[in-house]
Amino acid sequence: MGKIIDGKVMSERLRDKINKEVSAFTKDYGRPPGLAVILVGEDPASSVYVRNKERACKNAGIISFDHRLPTETSLTELTSLVKELNLRQDVDGILVQLPLPHHIKTDQVLMSIEPTKDVDGFHPYNLGRLLMGLPTVIPCTPRGIMYMLEAYGVDPDGKDTVVIGRSNIVGKPIATLLTLAHATVTVCHSHTKNLEEKVRNADILVSAAGRPHMVKGSWIKPGAVVIDVGITRDKDGRLSGDVDFETAKDRASLITPVPGGVGPMTIVMLLMNTIMLAKGHVA
Ligand code: NDP
Repeated sequence: MGKIIDGKVMSERLRDKINKEVSAFTKDYGRPPGLAVILVGEDPASSVYVRNKERACKNAGIISFDHRLPTETSLTELTSLVKELNLRQDVDGILVQLPLPHHIKTDQVLMSIEPTKDVDGFHPYNLGRLLMGLPTVIPCTPRGIMYMLEAYGVDPDGKDTVVIGRSNIVGKPIATLLTLAHATVTVCHSHTKNLEEKVRNADILVSAAGRPHMVKGSWIKPGAVVIDVGITRDKDGRLSGDVDFETAKDRASLITPVPGGVGPMTIVMLLMNTIMLAKGHVA
C-alpha cells in the first residue's frame, strides 16, 4: 500500500512556524499582519471556505478584515471596496473569494487588486511573473502541492507528469511550477482524448477536475505519486476527491487523501502568503 501524504499533520507542523513569524512581525512592526477577506453572495461552499480561512487567520494571530457583501453588489461597488483596501496600511493581503456572482466580471475584480496585496496570486501581473519564473505570489493550492512534493522527497525533474484541469487558479499554475521544476507536463481537460492512457503514463498525477472518483485505481502507474486536488461534496455532505482513493492507494507510492490532503495545505499557504506580503518581500 502506498504511503499517505498527510496534509493535516504537515499543515499543523507549519502552523507553529507561522505563529512564531506572526509574533515576530507583530513585535517588529507594532501591528499584526492583516488580511482582508471579501465574500459576495451566499454560496454555501464559499461561506465554509471563508469561515475556515478567517478562523485560520485568527488562530495564527493575523487580523482578518471580513467583508460580506450581498449577491446584488455591482462591479463598481466591489472594485471601490478593493481600491479602498489597496490604500489601507493595516491591510497586507486582499482575498476575493471565487466564484463571484455571474453579473460581476471576475477578471476586472482581480485586476483591481494591487499586485503587492494579491494574496492569492491571481492578478495577471503575478501570474505573468510566475510564467516567467520570477519571484512572485504563488497561488495557494499550487504552492501547497509543491511544498508537499518537496517534503516527501519527490523531485519532479524529468518525471512524466499529468495535470488534469487547466483553470487559472489550480491547473495552469501547477503545470507552470512543475515545468519550472523540470517535469515533462501534459495538461488534460474536458477535450482531452483518452484521458486514461495519459494518466497511465504519469509518474506524478495532479488531478484538479472536480469530478468525484473519475480517476480509477487501475489507471495509476505502479509507484506513481498522486495528488488529488478535487473536492466534491455529495448530497449527504461527504467530501470526495477526483481519484478513487481506495483502489488507487495500493498502486501509488504516495497519495493525498480527500479530505486531509491538499485542502489543509492550501489554507496554510494563504497564511504564509499573507506574511510574505506583510514583510514586503514581493515587488
Ligand atoms: P474548474 O472547474 O475551474 O476547472 C476544472 C478543470 O477540470 C477544467 O479545466 C476542466 O476542463 C477540467 N475537467 C472537468 N471535467 C473533466 C473531465 N471529465 N476530464 C478531464 N478534465 C476535466 O475548477 P478549479 O480548478 O477551480 O478546481 C478544481 C477542483 O479542485 C474542484 O473540485 C475544486 O473544488 C477543487 N479545489 C480544491 C482546492 C483545495 O484546497 N483542495 C482549492 C481549489 C480548488 P475544461 O477547461 O475543458 O472545462
